[in-house]
Order: sequence, then structure tokens, then C-alpha cells
Amino acid sequence: MTTHTIIDGKTIAASITDKIARQTGDYIREIGSPPCLAVVLVGEDPASAVYVRNKSKMADKVGFKSIQKILPAETPEDDLIAIIKDLNNDPTIHGILVQLPLPGHINESKIIELIASEKDVDGFHPINVGRLGAAQLNKALIPCTPAGSVILTKSVHGDNLSGLHAVIIGRSNIVGKPVAQLLLNENCTVTIAHSRTKDLEDVARSADILVAAVGRPGMVKGDWIKPGASVIDVGINRVPAPEKGDGKSKLVGDVDFESASKVAGALTPVPGGVGPMTIALLMANTLTAARRQNGISV
Ligand code: NAD
Repeated sequence: MTTHTIIDGKTIAASITDKIARQTGDYIREIGSPPCLAVVLVGEDPASAVYVRNKSKMADKVGFKSIQKILPAETPEDDLIAIIKDLNNDPTIHGILVQLPLPGHINESKIIELIASEKDVDGFHPINVGRLGAAQLNKALIPCTPAGSVILTKSVHGDNLSGLHAVIIGRSNIVGKPVAQLLLNENCTVTIAHSRTKDLEDVARSADILVAAVGRPGMVKGDWIKPGASVIDVGINRVPAPEKGDGKSKLVGDVDFESASKVAGALTPVPGGVGPMTIALLMANTLTAARRQNGISV
């Protein structure tokens, strides 16, 4: 009989951040000052503002120094460029995160490419993308949500994912593609499905590991899932929740939790699955970046 495990991303993330807090103590004893994460937010998007607050809060909690640069939506691109260059050149800053999306008048890829690759804790710089693609994981900074998704997968299957069929729905640069690269590196057989995929439900049903990174609330139903498969729901979608009161909303994933939980062997909830892992892995990347910049082997 299939057992249905709800993967507790919150607890797994907390054990990672506890470990980082201990390692940060060691780092401070060796270097004399804490790792520093700079988070840049342009504009007033409320979801982005919450993410930035949570990231800085966690940075403080694990013992890092954190600084926030909150800029008005109409900030000229040149001003943002100047700020990034300052952060790149400041040896007391080890990690730089520019919260995406940026306002339309700013060229996102230009900004990402400007961040010093060794400080690029989001792992979006082409150098880090290339290193991940070339399986040079010990030199790369790996995108946080994908790295967190793989750790959650391993919490179910153990470290050996070899030969399992992983289907990733979504091919974005920030989630789908890097998840696929990481799982390929774990010797999974990897299929990337997307909006043009034919017979998506059949493809999904062939997965031992199904990762949904689409941005469509409840798209993946129970009958898309092979009985016993592990399902990692990356989606974060805000939907109306009239049952909570007038004008209220709630967060749901890309997987229809109700039907999926009856079929999947293991499933991440939203919230409380991949989300907390993203922040934990951001802390891990910041500590890694700080250690590398100080010549401490990891
Ligand atoms: P995106 O919009 O950049 O990419 C979505 C992908 O889904 C595309 O590759 C597209 O081909 C595919 N897609 C769209 N419609 C489809 C369909 N009908 N069938 C199959 N595939 C389809 O989104 P993203 O940035 O990759 O984010 C995906 C989701 O993950 C969003 O809900 C986002 O909020 C969430 N997210 C969560 C975290 C986290 O920390 N948990 C981090 C990043 C993104």
C-alpha cells in the first residue's frame, strides 16, 4: 500500500538554517566579522517586499549582517547599475540579491550580468548558470529554489536518485531548467515539460519524481500522478479565499493538494514546502560565497 508523506519543508529548512547559524559562528571566529548579504528591491510590489523582508530577517537570524537597498519604482537603470557596482566593489559585502521582477524600464539580464558572479547568491549570473550546466557544482552558486527542491526530493528517496524518472513541468531559467540540471547531475532520467508539451498528463504520469513549476493554481491533479510518486510543488499562487472572509486570499501551489495527496507517495505542501527551503538555501549560498571570498575551503 502507498504511504502518503507530506514533506515538511519548514522543518527541513529549519535544520539547514540551524546548521548555517553554527557554521556562521565558526566563520566569525575565524574572520572576525560576519558574512554580509545585500538585498536590493526596486519598486513596491507587495509580494517582493515580503520576500525581501523575510530574506533579511533570516540573514539576521543566522548571524549574518544584512543590508537592504529599497529603491523607488522609477529608479533609473543607471542608478541601479551604480549601486550594484558599489556592492560589487565593497569587500565587506559577500552576497548580492536583486529581487526580481524589476520594473519594465530596467533591463533585467543586464543587471543580473553586472552582479559579480562570486557574489551572485541567486545563482542567475551566466557564469553560475554555465557552471551548473557543466556540472561544476563546487565552483557554482546554485539557484536556491531548485537546490531546495532537490533536498526535499532526497528527504524522501535518500541521496541516491539514480535512474529515477524526473519530470519537471516548467522550463524557466530560475526554476525549471536548473532543477532539471541538478536532477540530471543526480543521475535521474530527466524530462522537461512545458506549455507546448503534448499529452502533458501522460508525461507527468510517467514520473517517479514530479516537479511542478508553472504558476497555475492546482493544475496538476491526482490522476496526473503515478501512484507512489514524489511530487515537489514549486508553485506559489495567490487565489481568492472567500471562506476566510470578504476579500481574503490564500497561497496555493501548482498541484491540486486534495486529489494529489491521495495518490502521491510524498508531496510538498504550499505554503510550508519549497518556499522555506528557498530562503534556507539563500543563506547557504551567502555563507559559501563569504567563505570562498575569504579563501576558506568549503
Ligand atoms: P515562469 O512563468 O517563468 O515559467 C513557467 C513555466 O511553466 C514556463 O516554462 C511555461 O512553459 C510553463 N507553463 C506555463 N503554462 C503551462 C501549461 N499550461 N502547461 C505546462 N507548462 C506550462 O515561472 P517561474 O518563475 O518558473 O515560477 C513558476 C512557479 O513557481 C510560480 O508559481 C512561482 O511563483 C513559483 N516560484 C516559487 C518559488 C519558491 O520559493 N517556492 C521560487 C520561484 C518561483
